[in-house]
Amino acid sequence: MHISLKGQVAVVTGASSGLGEGAARALAAAGAAVVVNYNAHAEPAQKLVAEIQAAGGQAVAVGADVSQEEQVAHLFAETIKAFGFVDILIANSGLQKDAPMVDMTLADWNTVIGVNLTGQFLCARAALRQFAKQTDRRVSRAAGKIIHMSSVHQVIPWAGHANYAASKGGVDMLMRTIAQEVGQQRIRVNSIAPGAIRTAINEQATHGAAAEKLLKLIPYGRIGDPEDVANAVVWLASDASDYVHGNTLFIDGGMSLYPEFRDNG
Ligand code: NAD
Repeated sequence: MHISLKGQVAVVTGASSGLGEGAARALAAAGAAVVVNYNAHAEPAQKLVAEIQAAGGQAVAVGADVSQEEQVAHLFAETIKAFGFVDILIANSGLQKDAPMVDMTLADWNTVIGVNLTGQFLCARAALRQFAKQTDRRVSRAAGKIIHMSSVHQVIPWAGHANYAASKGGVDMLMRTIAQEVGQQRIRVNSIAPGAIRTAINEQATHGAAAEKLLKLIPYGRIGDPEDVANAVVWLASDASDYVHGNTLFIDGGMSLYPEFRDNG
């Protein structure tokens, strides 16, 4: 199966590191023009843009805080200025602010919900509004594709991370509801739910003794790499997955199989 996204434009939020960076690189390698969104750190985003361009691809870096309505508007306006269209949105930005429930501050609750859930709402809405303006575009069987970056914690409760788990549970319902709402417009909407992938968000949990403990939760026996997710992003963004709609693809080495029950519970 050969996948080409040539002629398509992808916006990847939180693309200056981790899964977003891997997704942006892979989408560009598949031929898409890529908008590399970053929040605080312009330098790694610009470095990735330079790398993509050096390989013959097209990319621009755009700074925007996805939890802020006017900054999301800026992100999409800059995308249109650079490439004229949006065909693919990877709503990937996310963060953690962990604490036991009794210690969790409202500020930390609001920050996580603001980026992980409201940010996905704002970006998906902006993409849908843009898709509606370009209905004559015929670069893909779908009139637009949205991929939400969720987590295994959309189904696995996570003590000490109530804000994060609630945000990802929300992403699941957001994704499925949007999919139900816009499918007839030939817009495909899906989620990816990673398990444990080595990135900055879980640096401590994926190295040394903590990694050994983590491996007990992964039936397939290894921690994931950003490429594991990036390959799925490219497939889900392409016509190779054209009949996949309203689904979550778990990329977790089996973490969501409740491995604690392997030995009879
Ligand atoms: P990461 O920390 O490397 O990436 C998160 C990205 O989000 C960063 O680039 C950061 O700048 C960006 N971001 C944070 N706040 C933002 C804001 N207000 N506006 C715009 N961008 C913002 O970690 P990652 O693992 O690459 O995480 C990417 C996504 O994958 C997140 O949604 C995360 O919840 C999800 N995820 C990751 C794992 C994993 O094991 N790494 C597992 C499940 C889900």
